[in-house]
Amino acid sequence: MAESIASALGAEPQRRLANGLEQFEVVAEKANLRVVIENADRLTGQMKLWDSRGLAHHCDGRAFLSPEADAGHPCGCPPTMAERRARARAGQGPQPITTLLFHLAGCPNVGSFRFRSSSWRFAEGVQRIRTQLATVGDAALCELAIQTVEFPTQNGRRVCYHKPVVKVLGPWASSAALSLAA
Ligand SMILES: [Zn+2]
Repeated sequence: MAESIASALGAEPQRRLANGLEQFEVVAEKANLRVVIENADRLTGQMKLWDSRGLAHHCDGRAFLSPEADAGHPCGCPPTMAERRARARAGQGPQPITTLLFHLAGCPNVGSFRFRSSSWRFAEGVQRIRTQLATVGDAALCELAIQTVEFPTQNGRRVCYHKPVVKVLGPWASSAALSLAA
């Protein structure tokens, strides 16, 4: 499995000093991957705030996701990402955790993979990407990439950060989708 993943990514599998399931790692030098996302529900955005006692706030930005007794009730987070970010910076609000489940387009039969990000920029785009995935209506071929954004600040300093992006390219060929489902 590690070899087919490595050949799809153009990399070498390395053995790790780990027990159980995480014995191999494949470090791809590419900044983008062709992936297959089966439906919009494979991309989910949650928000979490931890404190010394554990998970203190767990929501989707509007309603609590846990604990069970509170699930579905309004969580009190502000409506805009900018306000949520300001609260998180002050230690008063939760941070985003965006999770994407996908197959590799280069070897769709080796199983599904999980990408997890705490990027605010990625979290801001979740709803838009979900809408695009829903528009495809079937498994979608997408590009998962790490984009480098660079810009000069007003005082001339150069700022550089990386953000994950998902570009929906179109429907995954139906024959390939069938073999994915098998
Ligand atoms: Zn909340």
